[in-house]
Amino acid sequence: MRLILLGPPGAGKGTQAQRIVEKYGIPQLSTGDMLRAAVQAGTEVGKRADALMKAGKLVPDEVVNAIISERLDQPDCAKGFILDGFPRTLVQADATEAMLKDKGLELSSVIQIVVDDGILAHRVSGRYTCANCGAGYHDTDNKPSVEGVCDRCGSTHFKRRPDDNAETVVTRLQAYYKETSPLIGYYYAKGKLKSVDGMADIDHVTGEIEAILSKL
Ligand SMILES: [Zn+2]
Repeated sequence: MRLILLGPPGAGKGTQAQRIVEKYGIPQLSTGDMLRAAVQAGTEVGKRADALMKAGKLVPDEVVNAIISERLDQPDCAKGFILDGFPRTLVQADATEAMLKDKGLELSSVIQIVVDDGILAHRVSGRYTCANCGAGYHDTDNKPSVEGVCDRCGSTHFKRRPDDNAETVVTRLQAYYKETSPLIGYYYAKGKLKSVDGMADIDHVTGEIEAILSKL
């Protein structure tokens, strides 16, 4: 089961990926983690990446590809994997196809979590949590029953992530559509793309994903 999850920030990719990892026992491979691991292990490409990062330079695609390729050869990937945050661009998608083909493998499915931008921006930009117990609230959709008092623990202290504001959310969405959304057409054309409704509740989305995976 070799998977890619696509969807804009805030679509719930992380939660769904975690559930797939737990249910199917396949690793979630994020490029950041793989880079750090390769550097730590001191592999050839790890050393190259380390030197570049220490010089304050971006690690080029070919080095990232080599690191991913090494990682995919490890035994825990035998049953499959979820790629997390990669590929992000068409060039990287082509490289991923080529890399898998070299290994005699191909992607099983690319699952797109479809969201409504307006609703997503509204959800993310209004959210805050209790500073004491972490209970989640929203300015208009999910207020505590007594204004300013946490339902769960009675605390009157709340916090907001600084990047959870409408402007930042729109910027993040635009970056996603500009860079990554061409992958939707790319995988559709290859017959790999499946879509789930990311506006449904989390368990429902998980159910839709499991229905797709059960047919692979
Ligand atoms: Zn609380």
